[in-house]
Amino acid sequence: MTKKILGCIADDFTGATDLANNLVRAGMRVVQAMGVPTAPLDTEADAIVVALKSRTIPKEEAIAQSLAALQWLQAQGAEQIYFKYCSTFDSTAAGNIGPVTDALMQALGTDFTIATPAFPDNKRTVFKGYLFVGDVLLSESGMQNHPLTPMTDPNLVRVLQAQTQSRVGLIDHSVVAQGEAAIRARIDQLKVEGVRMAVVDAVSNADLLRLGPALKGMPLVTAGSGVAIGLPDNFGVAPSNEAARLPTAHGLQAIVSGSCSVATNQQVMDFIKAGKPALAIDPLRIAAGVDVAAEALAWAEGHMANGPVLVYSTAEPSAVRAIQGKLGSDKAGAMVEDTIAAIARGLVQRGVRQLIVAGGETSGACVQALGITQMRIGAQIDPGVPWCHAVAPDAKDGLHIALKSGNFGSTDFFTKAFAQLQA
Ligand code: ADP
Repeated sequence: MTKKILGCIADDFTGATDLANNLVRAGMRVVQAMGVPTAPLDTEADAIVVALKSRTIPKEEAIAQSLAALQWLQAQGAEQIYFKYCSTFDSTAAGNIGPVTDALMQALGTDFTIATPAFPDNKRTVFKGYLFVGDVLLSESGMQNHPLTPMTDPNLVRVLQAQTQSRVGLIDHSVVAQGEAAIRARIDQLKVEGVRMAVVDAVSNADLLRLGPALKGMPLVTAGSGVAIGLPDNFGVAPSNEAARLPTAHGLQAIVSGSCSVATNQQVMDFIKAGKPALAIDPLRIAAGVDVAAEALAWAEGHMANGPVLVYSTAEPSAVRAIQGKLGSDKAGAMVEDTIAAIARGLVQRGVRQLIVAGGETSGACVQALGITQMRIGAQIDPGVPWCHAVAPDAKDGLHIALKSGNFGSTDFFTKAFAQLQA
């Protein structure tokens, strides 16, 4: 492939889709791969996002996976590499943002990169190197209590410096506000001082759009998904509806939901209130050995011809706690995920070609069960949730799929999403 593309490495699955969504909105045609593909990409794209699950795994593994992704992306013609992490800079004291960045820099033979999780559309802003989530500092945002990656220091220069031997500096807002020439001059100055990674302030999309041109030609960019809005112009790409164009939707419609988040509970209620067919599955019956998936599929067969059906384990927190108390939360989670994934696969085998999956972990299980290895990213339904299109072993004619992580989407999401696909 001779065409120059943007090659992206994302450290988690829904984060990859979030980045892909921003690139599509900025006009790029984007393909997302689940893990590092074993074969060359067989379709046209301006950007490819390789989705890893490397955020909290041991750093040696995160480095190995990221380098494998880099190598594959370079073979596809990647001109610039974008290492995408969470907009709350989720990482442990050991990394993996710093170590992966160091390894990518070394492999690319580059001595400078930037780091900024700023994503103003999602209220993540960086000022003087401090990360704000909404109106409060990162360390007061609830992220200080995260079970895997507690973020207790809002100063990203310090956080990143603790993860790397490379010297970390800052490109502050007074520089960013002046635009490309000033940013480039600051980068040159930092390089002279021996700085290899610079945290960049950005409090608005205008800041990110000013930053974009200054990143042209930089071999490696590390960021949340926000910086993506300023890069497509460097590749001669302008926003257009064309980038989001997917094949025409066909086939039956279904929703499977294993998310118990507040937003998903409301979305399930909204669908039921509208009088649409919905079936709740009971984790205790799965635990008792009942073939709940077969039951659900038999039920769905009777309803699918008339419009979308919903199969859900979604429940209020008290009900989830009761189930977890009886089965243990890991066991309950895994059992429900397996069952919903089997249902998703069975639905596709029965002709569903427009599928919504609610839940981050649930999405991972369903995509795996469906054998989907790559997806083309289409139009956004709600912030962070685009329709995607994939070919799967049980859907060789193609399948539209939307993966909705927990708290995303408006209350009428399940109805609105299908309406958007038909428009
Ligand atoms: P979200 O994106 O909302 O966090 P996930 O799919 O990531 O959703 O996580 C939800 C977890 O809860 C999954 O492991 C799922 O299997 C589990 N789960 C779903 N329904 C129930 C239930 N009724 N009782 C207990 N656990 C459940």
